Amino acid sequence: MPPVTKFEYKVDMTFFGPSFRVGLQQHVPLDNREIKMERADIYDHLIGHALAQGVKIEYGCRIEAPILFGNRVVGVKTSAGDFYGDLVIDACGVDSPLRLQLPDSLGIEKDPGEMGKIYIYRAFYNKGKGAPAEAKYKVMLFADGKQGISWVADEEDYTDVLVGRFEPFDEAEALRFTEVLRETNPRIGRERLRGGQFAQIPVRQPLSILVADGYAAIGDSAFMTVPLIGSGMANCFKAARILAETVINDAECAFNSSTLWPYQVGYYKLLGAGFATLAAAKATVADLTPDEIDYIFESGMVTEDDITMGADFTNLFAAVKLDPKELIVKAKGAISDPKLLKKFAVAAMRMGKASAACSVMPKKWNRDRVLAWSKMYQLAFK
Ligand SMILES: Cc1cc2nc3c(=O)[nH]c(=O)nc-3n(C[C@H](O)[C@H](O)[C@H](O)COP(=O)(O)OP(=O)(O)OC[C@H]3O[C@@H](n4cnc5c(N)ncnc54)[C@H](O)[C@@H]3O)c2cc1C
Repeated sequence: MPPVTKFEYKVDMTFFGPSFRVGLQQHVPLDNREIKMERADIYDHLIGHALAQGVKIEYGCRIEAPILFGNRVVGVKTSAGDFYGDLVIDACGVDSPLRLQLPDSLGIEKDPGEMGKIYIYRAFYNKGKGAPAEAKYKVMLFADGKQGISWVADEEDYTDVLVGRFEPFDEAEALRFTEVLRETNPRIGRERLRGGQFAQIPVRQPLSILVADGYAAIGDSAFMTVPLIGSGMANCFKAARILAETVINDAECAFNSSTLWPYQVGYYKLLGAGFATLAAAKATVADLTPDEIDYIFESGMVTEDDITMGADFTNLFAAVKLDPKELIVKAKGAISDPKLLKKFAVAAMRMGKASAACSVMPKKWNRDRVLAWSKMYQLAFK
């Protein structure tokens, strides 16, 4: 853990539909809260650990492409020259130039796909006057009728504003939208203290094939974030441990698809399968209209318990104690609009398919079986 002076526990989020009429607040138990830190402190902490373990870091060096020998990744081409290694671990983020330039025959997906990324603008403002004592951490779905997720969070010295959309947008739109938020959130002051940058987060099912001969993808490059929410840090650490154990168990240092496959199996068992079903549910959220989202918030279809996810969150079904069949029963009880009901039926079907696909993932590497499985898995989200 980082030093106690460097982190705080996260406060409960309150979720709002586009009309802001109803706010559903999480009630995460104190001993299951996520921590929050300044990103610079996270990096100091992680880099400090890496250096203490003997890692050598080359700063200011642009990775350009994988170096291949046949279909085996044997190194990386960089602005500082070529580097060769027994295993290349690709942690280059969502648009990794390594993943994007692998041969198609490996079957590793390149593009995160439509709605596979969320575009983020984040800025920190001074505190506006007359900040009301309402929800400290407001998360808004489809605010201003725009497909996306945004938040306004009260901090001691500033107000944290995040704007997330499924489509790219520019600074003018981010500022216009912030002005809209200001109308109901006077705590957003007019002085931007820091931030004001754009970033992208993958919000989709994990990459269907994480490994190749001499190669393993991890973190955002392997789409390991929690779909919808976009949290990725804890998942990276858990995946890193599984990968490390897989590498240590490869006694002959072959580092090929077959000896690296247990990393994939272990990741999907611990986290990936749960996130895959959540990604299937996300596909439906993205398909809802603002009115439908308001209706879901106001009809009792989603409750405060449903949105209470602790630090150990890994699986939507486990978190809300729901399976796809129950989802339909619950929807039928709460929703009378046949169009919306149909969307829930599609959601339940997609979630069922994603869950079923994960349960039949090959336990051992076999190229043909893995490629066939990957196709079937990807279809579950269409
Ligand atoms: C605004 C925002 C808020 C977030 N909030 C949270 C949160 O509250 N909790 C949480 O868990 N997660 C959060 N996330 C997600 C989290 O930041 C990511 O999941 C996590 O950083 C992924 O780590 P990564 O190392 O895989 O990828 P990245 O953090 O993207 O790191 C990739 C690295 O590779 C480098 N790189 C890329 N291409 C090249 C190249 N060609 N040459 C050399 N270097 C290259 C990049 O510079 C970068 O340093 C947030 C993300 C954003 C954008």
